Amino acid sequence: MSVAERGAQPSGGTAVAGLDQSKVATFKTSLRGELIQRGDEGYDAARKVYNGMIDKHPAMIARCADVADVIAAVNFGRENNLLVSIRGGGHNAAGLGICDDGVVIDLARIHYTRVDPDAKTVEVGGGTTWGDVDHATHAYGLAVPSGIISTTGVGGLTLGGGLGYLSRKCGLTIDNLIAADVVLADGRVVRADERQHPDLFWALRGGGGNFGVVTSFVYRAHPIHTDYAGPMLWEMDQAPEVMRWYRDFIAQAPDDLNGFFAFLVVPPGPPFPEHLHKKTMCGVVWCYTGPMERAEDTFKPIRGFLKPALDLVGPIPHPALQSMFDALYAPGDQWYWKADFVDELSDEAIQRHVKHGSQLPTMQSTMHLYPINGAVHRVGKNDTAWSYRESTWAEVIVGVDPDPAQKDRLTAWARAYWEDLHPLSAGGAYVNFMMDEGEERVKASYRDNYDRLVSVKTRYDPSNFFRVNQNIQPPAAGA
Ligand SMILES: Cc1cc2nc3c(=O)[nH]c(=O)nc-3n(C[C@H](O)[C@H](O)[C@H](O)COP(=O)(O)OP(=O)(O)OC[C@H]3O[C@@H](n4cnc5c(N)ncnc54)[C@H](O)[C@@H]3O)c2cc1C
Repeated sequence: MSVAERGAQPSGGTAVAGLDQSKVATFKTSLRGELIQRGDEGYDAARKVYNGMIDKHPAMIARCADVADVIAAVNFGRENNLLVSIRGGGHNAAGLGICDDGVVIDLARIHYTRVDPDAKTVEVGGGTTWGDVDHATHAYGLAVPSGIISTTGVGGLTLGGGLGYLSRKCGLTIDNLIAADVVLADGRVVRADERQHPDLFWALRGGGGNFGVVTSFVYRAHPIHTDYAGPMLWEMDQAPEVMRWYRDFIAQAPDDLNGFFAFLVVPPGPPFPEHLHKKTMCGVVWCYTGPMERAEDTFKPIRGFLKPALDLVGPIPHPALQSMFDALYAPGDQWYWKADFVDELSDEAIQRHVKHGSQLPTMQSTMHLYPINGAVHRVGKNDTAWSYRESTWAEVIVGVDPDPAQKDRLTAWARAYWEDLHPLSAGGAYVNFMMDEGEERVKASYRDNYDRLVSVKTRYDPSNFFRVNQNIQPPAAGA
C-alpha cells in the first residue's frame, strides 16, 4: 500500500478543501517559526526534497522553530484530520519527508549539537544534518556513527538504523542512541530511553518515523579524529576477482577497518587522474580508525592482493571523509534505488553483480555493498527493531542523474539489477534504502520484529496519524 492509498483510509484524510481558514490563521500566529502555504513566496523551494523525482504539493509547510511549534503542528494536523509528514534532512529517496495536500512538519530550524566531552555524549536537534554533528564533535576529537553523505538528516537516518564508515567498529547509529524526545500523535512529549518508555525506545531504533516527531536525539560518541581512509579502484575486468577477495577479507577484517564495495563511473575531475575519467570501475572505499601507527601494516594485505589502478587511501580528518562524496551527489538529482540485505555473496551472485555493474546507466549511478558485520552483529536481533543482525551486507542499487529525461532509464536498470539479485538475498531490505514499496516489503524488512512494532504503534499511534513513512500499520487503521 503506497502513501497515497494509506492517506485514503478512514483514520485520516486530506480534507484540505473544507479546512477552516480562521483555524489556519490561528495556527500560523501560534508558531515561533513560519507557516508556508500554497501560493506563498518560497512555497516551491520549501516543498523540494533531495530526490528530484519527488514532486509533492503539501497544503502547508510548518517550519517549526522549537518543540512548542512541533506540538502545535501535530495538534493542528490531528484536529483538522490532515495528512502529516515529518521532514528531517529531506534526503529520503522515497520522498517520505513530504506529502500531498497535508501538513509538513519541517524540523530544519531545530538544529543544534551539544557535546559533553566528559560523558562522551552528544545531544542533537531533530532537524540537524550529519555534517553539522561531525563539525561540532570533531572539535572534541569525537564522532557519532552515521552515513556517508554529510547533508543527510539525523532524523531519518537514525530512526531507520544508520550505517556508515564506523558500523563495524561502533555499530549502527541506533546502537549509539541513548535517548530521544518525542512528540506523540496526541501532542504529549515523552523521553524514550532504556528506563522511560522502553518499548518506544526499542521501536525508535529501526522503526522509522512511525511513532512520533523526534525533536532531540542523544548519542554516544567515540574518540575518532583522523581516519586512514579513501577509495581504491580496480579495472572492471578484475571485478570478479576483487569481489571474491573482498567477500573473504571483510568477513575476518579487524573491527577498526571498514570498507564498502562499489561499482562506479570515475568522475571527470580531480583527484582522479585523467586516464581514468568516465571509466566504469570497481572499488572499495576504506576507513581505518585504529591506531595510526598500525595503519600501513593493516593495509599491507590489501595492497598486496592485487595492485589497484588508483589508491587514494591515506590520513584524512573524519569530517572530510564524511563529506567526501557530497559534491558528487548534489540535491535535486533524479534518484531511484532498490535494496536488499545479503548474508552471503556467492560466486553466482558475483557473476550477476558484474553483469549489471558493467552497465551503469549514468555517471553517478552505482551499487554499494555496506558491511554490517563486526559490532553490528554483537547486538541481538530482537534488542532493537532492526532485525537483520546476522546479515553481512546492506546492498543498494542506485540510479542517479541530474536529467529528468533519464528517469525511466535509471529506474529500468535498477529494477532489472535488483530482480536478478533479489533471489540470492536475505529477503528484506534496509528501510532507509527503499522506495515506497508497500506493506509486504516493510514486513520483510522487520521479519519477526514486525508484530512487536505493531503493538508499539498501536499503543502510541493507534489511528496511524504518522503514516508517511515505511508504515507499520496498527490493526484499527487497517480495518
Ligand atoms: C545521497 C544519500 C546517501 C545516503 N547514505 C546513507 C548512509 O550512508 N547510511 C545510511 O544509513 N543511510 C543513508 N542514506 C539513506 C538515509 O538514511 C535516508 O534517506 C533517510 O531517510 C534520510 O533522513 P532525512 O532525515 O534526511 O530524510 P527525510 O526525507 O527528512 O525523512 C525520512 C523519513 O524519516 C522520518 N523522519 C525524519 N526526521 C524525523 C524526526 N526527527 N522524527 C521523526 N521522524 C523523522 C520522516 O517522516 C520520513 O519518514 C542516504 C541517502 C541519500 C539520499
